[in-house]
Order: sequence, then C-alpha cells, then structure tokens
Amino acid sequence: MAAELFPCPFCGGEAEVYKFRVGLYTAHCKSRYCGVDIGKTKSEKGAERRWNRRRPELMVTAHSTSTNKSMLQLLSDIKGGIEEHLQVIITKGDHVHRLINAVIAQQQH
Ligand SMILES: [Zn+2]
Repeated sequence: MAAELFPCPFCGGEAEVYKFRVGLYTAHCKSRYCGVDIGKTKSEKGAERRWNRRRPELMVTAHSTSTNKSMLQLLSDIKGGIEEHLQVIITKGDHVHRLINAVIAQQQH
C-alpha cells in the first residue's frame, strides 16, 4: 500500500507518485502551475521516501520569512534534506536558493 505523501512544500498542492514504467518512478506536485518533482527513482517506495524527506512545514517557513539568523539556523537544521533537492529548489525558488547559498557559505567557515 502506498505511503501518504506530504503536501507540496512550494505550493501546498497534492502530490502523487508517477510511474513511467516498471523500475522508473517519480513523485511530483499535481498542480499544473507548480509541478515540482523529485527526479527519477527506481522504486515507488524510493519516490515516496524522497518526496516526504522535504518537510513542507519548514519549507513554507523558508518562503515566508526574511533572511535572518533563525532562518539560517532553520535551513542548517534541514540541510540534510536540502542537498538532494537542491536542483529543484533552485529551479522553483530563487529566494530560497540565495538563502541556501548563505547557509553553505556559513558552514564553510
Ligand atoms: Zn506544488
């Protein structure tokens, strides 16, 4: 049985796993105006896990607050989840992209 997918972290839309064929899956936002996806995976379970690794409640906060110290701390906390989805985030949110660069720069010091 399929696991429940979190809502889309960018628009709050409903998500679903899409099967290209046996052995090739993705999970994506069903909103036609958003459509963000997690790239391709080899298993349905893998697609679910990867989608749900993005914690929507944190990402929504990232979109709605300005750059400040707690913001950077928040992004540091979820950095593990971010790395895999960096490409998607860059595509979908330039503001978040800049924040992530700030976090990465901070951690390199
Ligand atoms: Zn979406």
